[in-house]
Amino acid sequence: MGKPLPRVEISISKIRENASFLARLYGTKGISLMGVTKAVLGEPKISEAMIHGGVRWIADSRLENIAKMRAQGLAARYVLLRTPLSSAESVVALADVSFNTELETLKSLSHRAHLQNIIHQVVIMVELGDLREGVLPTDLFSFVREVLTLPCLEVIGIGGNLACYGGVHPDEKNMAVLSELANQLERELPLRLELVSGGNSANYDWFRETKDFGRINNLRIGESILLGCETLSRKPISGLNVDAFQLVAEIIEAKTKPSMPYGQLGQDAFGVVKGFKDKGQMQRLILALGRQDVTVVGIQPTSPLEIIGASSDHVLLDGKNTDLQVGDEVRFSLDYGALLAVMTSPFVHKRYHA
Ligand SMILES: *Cc1c(COP(=O)(O)O)cnc(C)c1O
Repeated sequence: MGKPLPRVEISISKIRENASFLARLYGTKGISLMGVTKAVLGEPKISEAMIHGGVRWIADSRLENIAKMRAQGLAARYVLLRTPLSSAESVVALADVSFNTELETLKSLSHRAHLQNIIHQVVIMVELGDLREGVLPTDLFSFVREVLTLPCLEVIGIGGNLACYGGVHPDEKNMAVLSELANQLERELPLRLELVSGGNSANYDWFRETKDFGRINNLRIGESILLGCETLSRKPISGLNVDAFQLVAEIIEAKTKPSMPYGQLGQDAFGVVKGFKDKGQMQRLILALGRQDVTVVGIQPTSPLEIIGASSDHVLLDGKNTDLQVGDEVRFSLDYGALLAVMTSPFVHKRYHA
């Protein structure tokens, strides 16, 4: 019996090597890493590989994922990147640290921590221009002053997040703003910030180019560890594996057919009316793979084939006159969206290997 299809093949050693390379690289400038596991649904084998690579914090946006990793007893400090108000009770039970931007939420975390007789650590996120989460810099002092009055919370740091919604680049200027805010907070309020968390996989170019790291001593890295690239232009980072994940699907039809549909043309399965170019007869391959398994725009065949279309359960390829047959396998590299989709799809088998 062959291996199940479709499947994503996951190399634990490549992920560990990537984590280790990046932990050492950023470590040369005193920057610690949080390994971000949300794209792989907090898969404990993957967070374990990150930890073995030298990452000491594991961060995820979902409590379910943190619960799964904790249940495996993996030793790390767990960080919740997104704080849902209604789950304060499980946040303080499951996460050592959470990222926050709302007083209401912080009050409820403090209350829940009190009931559980613990101190919950928080990082306050600061808006740096990307316009997703963050307290505005002008509001930061009064905000943190309020948080310091909450008895069962400890403010251990501040953080910024760029290149997520607005696509704003992390640069010397916005990183200096974050550093300076850390300095000012410590000058004016009774606190010491253990963490100044400057961003994510998009901070790579800033890291290579900046002369002054200021107070930035932490980054939260998911995609660079998993896929080996930075995320402003998705350049591979030299020294990293870009093929820790590969998607494999099976050919279920291989025929020479026309390139141009015939009959009266209307909408396709997704309501789109397409235009076609007649390129004569061509080799057409159909894979047992579709939009229920992966975001098809995010996959790239590792051999010289071309994706020409996809529906829920079929991907069509131009076979480019290769001799691929029914039953053969086709391999794909994945982008972040495709990785997220294959890890989430119940139809895609997950195969871990060393
Ligand atoms: C997802 C996320 C990250 C990690 O982003 P990558 O691009 O995968 O490195 C970092 N910080 C926050 C707040 C996030 O939500």
